[in-house]
Amino acid sequence: MSNPVLVVGSIALDTVRTPFGKIKEGLGGSATYFSVSASYFTPVKLVGVVGKDFPKRYVGMLKKHGIDTKCLEYKKGKTFRWTGNYDFDLSEAHTINTALNVFEHFNPKLPPDYASSPYIFLANIDPDLQMEVLKQVVNPHLVILDTMNFWISGKKKSLQKVLKKIDIFLLNESEARQLADESNLVRAARKIIAMGPATVIVKRGEYGALYFNSQSIFSAPSYPLENVFDPTGAGDSFAGGFVGYLARCGSKEDSCVRQAIIFGSVMGSFCVEDFSLNRLSRLSYPEILKRYHEIKQQAAFEAVNES
Ligand code: AMP
Repeated sequence: MSNPVLVVGSIALDTVRTPFGKIKEGLGGSATYFSVSASYFTPVKLVGVVGKDFPKRYVGMLKKHGIDTKCLEYKKGKTFRWTGNYDFDLSEAHTINTALNVFEHFNPKLPPDYASSPYIFLANIDPDLQMEVLKQVVNPHLVILDTMNFWISGKKKSLQKVLKKIDIFLLNESEARQLADESNLVRAARKIIAMGPATVIVKRGEYGALYFNSQSIFSAPSYPLENVFDPTGAGDSFAGGFVGYLARCGSKEDSCVRQAIIFGSVMGSFCVEDFSLNRLSRLSYPEILKRYHEIKQQAAFEAVNES
């Protein structure tokens, strides 16, 4: 049995417009995409809050994926809402509105079986809340964190405090440039490693991901897709595949981290093929493995016998 992952992050109703369509108040949120994606690899314990307006069928879908929702609180008030849109290149979300609602006063208390989870994923949410959860965790094997431009610009000091306490930091390329105040990604990653995390993974959307630690760099490809409808949640689905596979593997070895990054790319590729979690929530493990092997083949090349 693989190791459980605890996740804290947003559970949202998203209103999204892309050049290919739109969705009003669909299921979204960093913890939601993460949980469903990770659930294909390992058991997930979800910590979050929703308002009384949150449709019950969404909780049913999470439970169907075996996700433990014991610490999903229903609070008086409205569920977190995010409204955003994308231009034709789909590489950057433009936030129109963020309404924290019930998240504004969310103060989770972890029961002992949650606090002892070996893998902790602090999904994109207020860094002060990420820190509160981290303080309650006992002896974690690995702590992974995600964030976004909203928190880098609004709560940089709090974010820098959490960065000192984590092992792996996932962020996208524009966030890496923004946080490090550095346009070159290699230099930006080095600056971010100096802030605390031993490993930094920079997600580059359709161009894959870059993995940095003090010894090595790994350039991971993405899965080339013909039809992309909505990039929302791709980063969190990447994180779900990445952390879920690491937990399944149970090792921090470099080779395992590299495999986990490819599983991350696979899960991101499924997510963007439809709005909300419509594609991500209807997968099978053999489909996931098939894409993993396809990426391996697409990226393979021979060594040359020259020095
Ligand atoms: P991504 O994987 O980066 O595309 O994440 C998209 C998800 O992040 C959406 O479903 C949103 O509900 C959620 N989101 C957007 N803004 C925030 C925020 N400021 N804090 C937490 N979650 C957010």
